[in-house]
Amino acid sequence: MSLQQTYLYSLLFLKCPRCRQGDLLESNPYRIAKMNKVQKQCSSCALKYAIEPSFFTGSMYVSYAVGVAVAIATYVLTLVIGWTLGPAEILLSIISVLVVLMPYIGAVSKSIWAHFFFKYEPKFANKNKSL
Ligand SMILES: [Zn+2]
Repeated sequence: MSLQQTYLYSLLFLKCPRCRQGDLLESNPYRIAKMNKVQKQCSSCALKYAIEPSFFTGSMYVSYAVGVAVAIATYVLTLVIGWTLGPAEILLSIISVLVVLMPYIGAVSKSIWAHFFFKYEPKFANKNKSL
């Protein structure tokens, strides 16, 4: 199994949960015009991503959890670096990191949501081996 076929790679690099090759989103999450738009189906294995209307609405619950995790990680990072910040500075640093990472948090939340519902099927991954 190559790096591109691992669960974590597929999750973090926003790949199709079934074949781990096609892209989940229409474009980079930081392209604001198409921000976090999920493709209709996988370009590699033709998996239809939206299994029901508003399927990806549920990913907002995931994005809340990811946001909290990022906020905690930011705070821990300031402690590790050794900055002595007041409460307002801590809040400001957390808000800054969340704003910068917002597009990716939204995208990775949709990826986590999709990976929760679709299982990896190696037979689809090996279909386009020649690419
Ligand atoms: Zn696929």
